[in-house]
Amino acid sequence: MKQGIHPKYHDQGIVCTTCGTRWQIGTTRNNLRVEICANCHPFYTGEQRIVDTAGQVDRFMKRLSASQDRQAAIERQRGTKNQPAPKKSLLKEIYGDDA
Ligand SMILES: [Zn+2]
Repeated sequence: MKQGIHPKYHDQGIVCTTCGTRWQIGTTRNNLRVEICANCHPFYTGEQRIVDTAGQVDRFMKRLSASQDRQAAIERQRGTKNQPAPKKSLLKEIYGDDA
């Protein structure tokens, strides 16, 4: 093995931050962490659940409700803007307001 050209080898493994499992794998990077692994992924566990480690579901729900509020406000504005003007009576339309 030639000296000085190989990266440093770490054998601490990879840690899953969801279930805490340590997978023994040799890597060239130190302190590797993954959000999900075969031990806790719903595909492998057979459970139907959402693994939300980074609060992504909460963030999505927050964005969704903000978007719905914005859309409702736009709809309200549109509703008031596109209201047809109150119709004049036919007499007033023909003879003007002083008839
Ligand atoms: Zn895991």
